[in-house]
Amino acid sequence: MDQTKVFIEKDNSQTEVMLRESETRYRRLFETAKDGILLLDAVSGQITDVNPFLIEMLGYSYDEFIGKSLWEIGPFKDIAASQTAFRELRRKKYIRYDELPLETKNGESVDVEFVSNLYEVNDQKVIQCNIRDISERKRIKDSLNKANEELSSLVVQLQNRDREMRLINHMNDLLQACKTQEEAFHIISLAVGDLFNGQSGGLAILHDSGHFLETYASWGNEPMLESLFQLDDCWAIRRGQAHEAADPLDSIICGHFTRPLKTGSLCLPLVVQGEMLGLLSVEIPTGMKLDNLHHWKQQVVTVGEGIKLSLSNLKLREIMHEQANHDPLTGLFNRRYLNDTLPRELNHARRDGKQTTIAMLDIDHFKQLNDTYGHDAGDLMLRELGRVLRENVRKSDIACRYGGEEFVLILLDSSLESSRQNIEKINTQVKEMQIRYGEQLLGSMSLSSGMIEASQDEMTVDELLSAADKALYAAKRAGRDRVVAYCDLEKN
Ligand code: GH3
Ligand code: MG
Ligand code: MG
Repeated sequence: MDQTKVFIEKDNSQTEVMLRESETRYRRLFETAKDGILLLDAVSGQITDVNPFLIEMLGYSYDEFIGKSLWEIGPFKDIAASQTAFRELRRKKYIRYDELPLETKNGESVDVEFVSNLYEVNDQKVIQCNIRDISERKRIKDSLNKANEELSSLVVQLQNRDREMRLINHMNDLLQACKTQEEAFHIISLAVGDLFNGQSGGLAILHDSGHFLETYASWGNEPMLESLFQLDDCWAIRRGQAHEAADPLDSIICGHFTRPLKTGSLCLPLVVQGEMLGLLSVEIPTGMKLDNLHHWKQQVVTVGEGIKLSLSNLKLREIMHEQANHDPLTGLFNRRYLNDTLPRELNHARRDGKQTTIAMLDIDHFKQLNDTYGHDAGDLMLRELGRVLRENVRKSDIACRYGGEEFVLILLDSSLESSRQNIEKINTQVKEMQIRYGEQLLGSMSLSSGMIEASQDEMTVDELLSAADKALYAAKRAGRDRVVAYCDLEKN
């Protein structure tokens, strides 16, 4: 045997062994791969082989794959798409889908990553498709996305709550700085309207008589509370606790609404230390999730707390202010108020060039009346005189109890002559008063008055008061029951 031929045969058989080994290795990989593998003839597009993993994944048998075109198999049945992909693959030799939904034989959906390569084996063009089940990866990705979305909405929710807390704190800060209820009502309308984003609502306050409520603040698009209503109109006031009418068609609805509400309503009685101050009533927002609704109700309660505390403070402050500036017996202003306001009023009158009269009034022989009828009857006479004075001056004027039975009137924008007429009218009314003290009809009283025109002169407040007092003294000396002007006194 030729030595060369022996070598060649030996070489061939060695190559064959290596080839078989390589084939076996490839086959083992193909059979045991944890991805689906599909082999196709690149020319005909027919499936030539499929691995067990893909058979298991898609539920079709080996025979159902072999010899078919890709688009004849259920999962790839979108013919147009598959044919287009097939053409593209032949051109580019590589195609990849990161996420492709496939349908298994029993109709379930499985998400896969699909990679195809075109290559040549022994002059034959082969397409290999690697199909990886990414359902689990997608499930994790989806749940991550969901968690992310939830986190984002939580952040938005927290930002909203932060904004709400800031608005409530800001409102409470402003309310604490309020000097009058009117200021507080204005702030409440703006702040609560802002907080509840256009949702209607209102604040009603119990009238001093305790018989009805009056609406002082409203917010939202349309007012929802009547301007005046009875206590019984509100179920929250009747029961002394929050009243919620969640469904306007199927709830107990209060009678104080101006219109039928599209959504529900929440009424909150504002009670401080057992004293009912008023009512906070708000329209329930629509389409709110239960959690948010619970939070919203708490928000209303928090707002109500701030409002009722500030209103209670203001009420106390107003009572203290009233007490500090008024005489408890007659209800007129007291001397302290006069001392505080007279310089300011006088400045305004002089600046505006308006005539202003200061008058000092004193009851004639009051000691005698007191001695005759007793101190309590004297008090009653002082009270009645207080009423007459109040009724005969304008709201802008100042009627003040200056001392025991001495009174001062500041008549703004009033000439000496019209002031004289006014004081004489007061004196006539006082003289005609018939005051009963128990069974007893009390004797009549008269007034002596001294007055001065204050705006043109450069006199100080003390000088003006002492001039009015001088005129009063002159009225007493001239026989009482009369009015004397300081200027007349100078002439004499
Ligand atoms: P005249 O005409 O000169 O003013 O005589 P008069 O008696 O009114 O004057 P006088 O100043 O001597 O007396 C004032 C009286 O007013 C004395 C005091 O008992 C009484 N009086 C002062 N304050 C009150 C009060 O709050 N209640 C009562 N009942 N009497 C008061
Ligand atoms: Mg007197
Ligand atoms: Mg007197």
